[in-house]
Amino acid sequence: MKKRYEPKNIEEKWGSFWEKNDYFSPRPGKKKTTFSMVMPPPNVTGVLHMGHALDNTLQDIIARFKRMKGYEVLWIPGIDHAGIATQNVVEKKLNQEGINRKSIGKEKFTKYIQEWKENYEEKILSQLKKLGISCSWKDKSFTMDKNHSLAVKEAFFQLYKKGYIYRGNYIINWCPHCETALSDIEVEYREKQEKLYYIKYPFKERKNEYLVIATTRPETMLGDTAVATNPEDKHFQNLKEKTLILPLIGRELPLIYDSLVDPDFGTGVLKVTPAHDPTDFLIGKKHNLPFINILNKDGTINKNGGIYEGLNRYECRKKIINDLQKEGYLEKIENYAGRVGHCYRCGTIIEPYISSQWFIKMENLAKEAIEAIKEEKIEFIPYHWKKKYLQWLSNIHDWCISRQIWWGHRLPVWHCENCKKDTVSIETPQRCPYCGSTKIKQDEDVLDTWFSSSLWPFSTMGWPKTREKFKKFYPTSFLCTGWDLLFFWVARMIMMGIEITNKVPFYKVYFHPLISDEKGQKMSKSKGNVINPLSLMEKYGTDAFRFSLVAVETELPYLRFSENRLRGYRNFANKIWNASRFVLSNLKDFAPKKGKPISLELCDRWILSRYSKTIQKVTISLENFKFSEAANLLYQFIWGEFCDWYIELIKPRLLERNNTLSSYTARWTLYHTLKGTLKMLHPFMPFITEEIYQRLPREENDKESIMISSWPEEDKKDTDAENKMNFLIAIIQEVRTIRAEMEVPPQRKINLLIRTKDKISILREHSSYLINLLKIEKLFIDEEIKKPSHCASSLIEDVDIFIPLENLLNLKKEKERLKNKLKKIEKDLSRTKKRLLDLKFLRKAPPEVVEKKKRERVNLKKEKERFKKRLREI
Ligand SMILES: [Zn+2]
Ligand SMILES: [Zn+2]
Repeated sequence: MKKRYEPKNIEEKWGSFWEKNDYFSPRPGKKKTTFSMVMPPPNVTGVLHMGHALDNTLQDIIARFKRMKGYEVLWIPGIDHAGIATQNVVEKKLNQEGINRKSIGKEKFTKYIQEWKENYEEKILSQLKKLGISCSWKDKSFTMDKNHSLAVKEAFFQLYKKGYIYRGNYIINWCPHCETALSDIEVEYREKQEKLYYIKYPFKERKNEYLVIATTRPETMLGDTAVATNPEDKHFQNLKEKTLILPLIGRELPLIYDSLVDPDFGTGVLKVTPAHDPTDFLIGKKHNLPFINILNKDGTINKNGGIYEGLNRYECRKKIINDLQKEGYLEKIENYAGRVGHCYRCGTIIEPYISSQWFIKMENLAKEAIEAIKEEKIEFIPYHWKKKYLQWLSNIHDWCISRQIWWGHRLPVWHCENCKKDTVSIETPQRCPYCGSTKIKQDEDVLDTWFSSSLWPFSTMGWPKTREKFKKFYPTSFLCTGWDLLFFWVARMIMMGIEITNKVPFYKVYFHPLISDEKGQKMSKSKGNVINPLSLMEKYGTDAFRFSLVAVETELPYLRFSENRLRGYRNFANKIWNASRFVLSNLKDFAPKKGKPISLELCDRWILSRYSKTIQKVTISLENFKFSEAANLLYQFIWGEFCDWYIELIKPRLLERNNTLSSYTARWTLYHTLKGTLKMLHPFMPFITEEIYQRLPREENDKESIMISSWPEEDKKDTDAENKMNFLIAIIQEVRTIRAEMEVPPQRKINLLIRTKDKISILREHSSYLINLLKIEKLFIDEEIKKPSHCASSLIEDVDIFIPLENLLNLKKEKERLKNKLKKIEKDLSRTKKRLLDLKFLRKAPPEVVEKKKRERVNLKKEKERFKKRLREI
């Protein structure tokens, strides 16, 4: 075994070993039941980011754990075509090369996207492999492969047949850059400083009198067809049947009353633009107003805008304000803090726009999806996401599923030029079923990318065509995803699953946090704080990287990633390496015999009991998806108990020649505990554990890979051994603390006096532990010991500890040092206390910082008391 732990070679070696031996494909286990998951398919837009790394590490831990527990595990990987997102990145790239999407046309453009997809799919898959992901590559899926196309058509057809899919002219969210409709949740609302323009609308009959109307989008006045106020609003009671004149244009606008008008916005008077505002759209429908569309698809003004035709919406706004001012129609301009909708893919400001689109009626689908959660057919972890889910589904609008982009699944709809009827069909029809005409054309629109994603849990299983996998592994056992996909994806999978397969698509959903930088800031290119998981894996090793993500996994919405902490977990990997190297060097001529040795000593019994307890706790944590809890249990056990105590305690026994019984027992315990611990650690750190496992001596039933070995089983707890060892550890720790506080040089031997009544036998019996770990020259353990003068002392469970200092230290110097130390502690303490009385700090600091300060105060207080005592003693 190499002296230094070098992750790179190890990772490559075992990664290909596992794949070559096909350990990732489902294979029947001793449990005779299945466990299935589908991977949230990464978008082909780019390479793997930190979110993917976390998402897939968590799933991999579960997959490896369940396999070792004896389940037949199917974990389906895949890639999402990510319609609008991918179209956007490819378009951007082509623009940089001077190529325009529209000028090369649909066919050529989609070819470019196809190329992009091949390229990035390969990249993403190889990155997932680098991360050690053990999904079943043979079952790999793509949201636009043959089976998915069929699934999409089948699902669309079924929903259409049931009357859930309809086409209509509605006001939708329009992105003038992507030139497509967006669903409600694809619009991102951002706080923005805007202007509120107050415009005078004169009365037709009395030209000098007018109503003032406030608007943030004055250019939309080109499409005004009425003016409205709230019927409850006292200011405008006697204006019935009045007509106003649209400034600059001269169109007559009736004054109407409608309760949808917000009397508290602006002046309480609303300009009604039915074609360009969702509220106005409803008012327009109700009052039968004309709908005047003033925008082209790219956001420029169309011919209905008269002299403003051809300007983009912002140039038009400027010009209109200018003209209003010139003509005396502009009363004032105010600042206004508003929420403005942006396209979630390109960031362009959305326009409400009327167009003919396809929708899914959500009422029934949502009802069943609500029931499934209420009846706990699906469990959400953490539980609190349930509330958000139910709120959203209870207020859901119909889902606009058609997109005017080029990359995606075409709608399975054919229009007949002759009779104008639509045909929805799974197979491509040759002629119109209504009139027999062959002049039929498939709808040019594509489906919202989330439509195909919503079928993912069963479309990946071969539905609707081949049903083997579907029968065996659907519904899936577990879904793991970021909470940001709750509405986009999870809720829709639940609706579609229930509607189309009559079953919930999964039984448990785990929502993990999103990853922010160390300060809690969202990672973004513009902030320059994006961390590339690949470079971290290169630098620190994949195992340490995985562990660093999982160990701090939290129920909070954001996980603050810190490279510093990752460095700490690299040290953990090094620690495991070095400890294992030591163990292995002591197992050279060791052949494990069957069964536990009968001659276990106290520390053997203790570590076996702690090991067993760790198995029990880690198993429960993983069964409940408490990832960080499991990781920290293992960290504590490996470092804090196995390495720091057990290995140290048995070193003298390992040195014994002639393989005595005591030496064999120590080796057996080392071997047994290390092997089982590696197994528990394997889901978290797959590579290093395999490397060490492969070097351990073999037993008859051992598997050729740790990956397919079975999960360790817990044994009885040995309370007697734990109590005794806890006591001895406490004594050793206390003496170590005193040594450190008195600054006794590490190599310097001390004398130790222990006065006790009840613990004499246990201390004497295990005095070797103390002598061994404490650098002791002379040890006295007795009932009657007089406290020497000038000694450091302490009390542990009625046991007095004395360390004579006279020949150990220069007492005068020591006194000075302790005084100074005490002064410093007191200073720190008073500063901490002051801070905790500072209201401004308490109000502003994050709770964890305040908590830390409080802990600091407690520790400083304790420290102060201890040093006071030391000073008295000297
Ligand atoms: Zn856009
Ligand atoms: Zn026809």
